[in-house]
Amino acid sequence: MATLSIKNLSKTYPNGVKALNNVSIEIENGMFGLLGPNGAGKSSLMRTLSTLQEADSGSAFLDDIDILNDPTELRKVLGYLPQEFGVYSKITAEQLLDHMCVLKGISNRKERKELVGYLLQKVNLYEKKNKSVKGFSGGMKQRVGIAQALIGSPKLIIVDEPTAGLDPGERNRFHNLLADVGKEVIILLSTHIVDDVHELCSKFAVMNEGEIVYHGTPTDAISELKGKVWQKSIEREDLAQHQENHQVISDKMIAGKPVIHAFAESDPSNGFHLVEPSLEDVFFVKTKLNQVAVTV
Ligand code: ADP
Repeated sequence: MATLSIKNLSKTYPNGVKALNNVSIEIENGMFGLLGPNGAGKSSLMRTLSTLQEADSGSAFLDDIDILNDPTELRKVLGYLPQEFGVYSKITAEQLLDHMCVLKGISNRKERKELVGYLLQKVNLYEKKNKSVKGFSGGMKQRVGIAQALIGSPKLIIVDEPTAGLDPGERNRFHNLLADVGKEVIILLSTHIVDDVHELCSKFAVMNEGEIVYHGTPTDAISELKGKVWQKSIEREDLAQHQENHQVISDKMIAGKPVIHAFAESDPSNGFHLVEPSLEDVFFVKTKLNQVAVTV
């Protein structure tokens, strides 16, 4: 059982943007979701933990490996899948993975061949091993990305926004693969897609404006909101008025009409009815209402 322990991590970019503000969190084996709107600081955290950039202050340890001060040690046990897994032109899946093995220091050709075969099978691409990766679908490329992230038996796998651009079938296959791998290691999954976290992660955190604003299980987060999320179907021109009078956490179109969700401790009346809260409601409450000091 590995533990990733992050304490008081802060990072301000030269342009003055404070991307990480005193981030502290402890993460154990399994899939951990890091949810947040664009600009929340997710990639900054992922890049720092992947040793691709430095923090200004704080610490991060994977068991006894000091990630910030000993990046070389961390890289030996790290698998990293960036947002878009870049692929060299005209190279087959097998050649690409073999090349990545060389980069990871596996010099024995026979050992590489066996490992690449095993990885291709694991991500269900063995039959396509002689095909050019360039022609692969988005989902297939992401599976090659996971295969390369598994080289060297990592203890920590960092996956940044992995399902953007995948169709629903590809997304399902990718989820199943992650869930399968996630039993044995820590997988840190950064995403702005709430359903990805709901489907995959037993624990998650919500990040907003460089801070961790929630940390727990999806089930607990949802039950904390029970009895506090109210729904109403409104006319488009009444949206601003409702936003003024209620703590509106989301508005979306259903069958061409805006439907709003509002947060309230008790019945706001005015035509609202109580609904079962979802993880999406949690996400909006934590990221939109935090500024007005709502405690749930
Ligand atoms: P997320 O991954 O949640 O979208 P990021 O970590 O990419 O968030 O960005 C957090 C904030 O830091 C944003 O305001 C973003 O514009 C800013 N930012 C990210 N990278 C840089 C950089 N290299 N230089 C300056 N500002 C940056």
